[in-house]
Amino acid sequence: MAYSYEAPVSQSLFDRASVVTPGGVNSPVRAFRAVGGTPRFMVSGTGPYLTDADGREYVDLVCSWGPMILGHSHPEVIAAVQEAVSRGTSFGTPGEGEVALAEEIVARIEPVEQVRLVSSGTEATMSAIRLARGFTGRAKVVKFAGCYHGHVDALLAAAGSGLATFGLPDTPGVTGATAGDTVVLPYNDLEAVRAAFAAHPGEIACVITEASPGNMGVVPPADGFNAGLKELCAADGALYISDEVMTGFRTSKAGWYGIDGVRPDLMTFGKVMGGGFPAAAFGGRADVMAHLAPAGPVYQAGTLSGNPVATAAGLAQLRLLDDAAYAKIDAVSAELRSLVGDAFTKEGVAHTVSSASNMFSVFFTDQPVRNYDDAKKQEAFRFTAFFHSMLEQGVYLPPSAFESWFVSTAHDERAVERIAAALPAAARAASEATA
Ligand code: PLP
Repeated sequence: MAYSYEAPVSQSLFDRASVVTPGGVNSPVRAFRAVGGTPRFMVSGTGPYLTDADGREYVDLVCSWGPMILGHSHPEVIAAVQEAVSRGTSFGTPGEGEVALAEEIVARIEPVEQVRLVSSGTEATMSAIRLARGFTGRAKVVKFAGCYHGHVDALLAAAGSGLATFGLPDTPGVTGATAGDTVVLPYNDLEAVRAAFAAHPGEIACVITEASPGNMGVVPPADGFNAGLKELCAADGALYISDEVMTGFRTSKAGWYGIDGVRPDLMTFGKVMGGGFPAAAFGGRADVMAHLAPAGPVYQAGTLSGNPVATAAGLAQLRLLDDAAYAKIDAVSAELRSLVGDAFTKEGVAHTVSSASNMFSVFFTDQPVRNYDDAKKQEAFRFTAFFHSMLEQGVYLPPSAFESWFVSTAHDERAVERIAAALPAAARAASEATA
């Protein structure tokens, strides 16, 4: 596919990057490989806008893959960061900021009685699984195809996100021994979970699931699915781990738990709670968390865990996320979903706008999408044409048909108008695309 627009500065940065960094990026989905073209190197962000190295401005519908829920450079978050930085950047000791952030999480999310701070969502899920195994004395982990829990070895089987984008079933470098205790099941299929417990009674340490998946595109849990998981886990003595790295503090004040009320044994968080800095967490039942070092025998640690600048950013962001903020994000998301759906309908493009609270994505199919196999049946080539038309018109979408789109409180009328103006031509490009 030829692109009629150019990004010479981004291209030269990408050329430099490709010499010193594999594939030119530090996280695969940033590389535009699924859609082609030159990844945009961003130099600044303000509110709902990003500006690239060529001086072009975009309405941002990626929001750093979720964290920037107040938009870019929110003055109160920046002020909190500057205040924290002025006192030093890392002490390797406990500090008040991490206590305050942990208290905020515990106050918002009722099943979280205790929480441990880490630096990435990957660390959070990796640690939660180790703790579940240590607590139960069992080895096996159940996960769902299309769910992504970070690049934890044991969880990279049939994972979503970049692996979905690039069609990778799994990855070299993960040994059979590591993956051998992972049981991968189809999403939204309680019968399959029941069968797994019947096949491995007393052997499953935990079932981990995205609270509402956003890494195979947005595929919400069917009614009763999460409750069924919880019930099956409890009956067998396994732990139910809800991964809220993406949904946490985004889909509601208390994340997806605030929506479905199913009480997990352990939960994982990241993205929004770091305010754009590397901060993440796992937490849950106090009796389970008590097994974690130094209170208990399951080891887990981190030089930069609870970093004072990251915790200041996260805390400032969470404190601004009140009911009014969520109402605003939900309203912008609903408006965009309807604009996007109308544009495709007008051009006769088969599509489904799939949403879970304010997270949403488009599948290029009119068939129901309940799991990863359904998601893969979409006409993803249409997304490529749609993506590039939107990019050319100044709207930055995730460069993959298998990722959620994100909005923020900063997406105001002007930003929505710019997206609305870009949609007709982009929908036409999608309708004219060929495989
Ligand atoms: N869990 C979920 C649900 C995610 O969406 C992600 C990242 O996208 C992760 C875990 C991993 O988080 P991180 O990229 O911070 O390691």
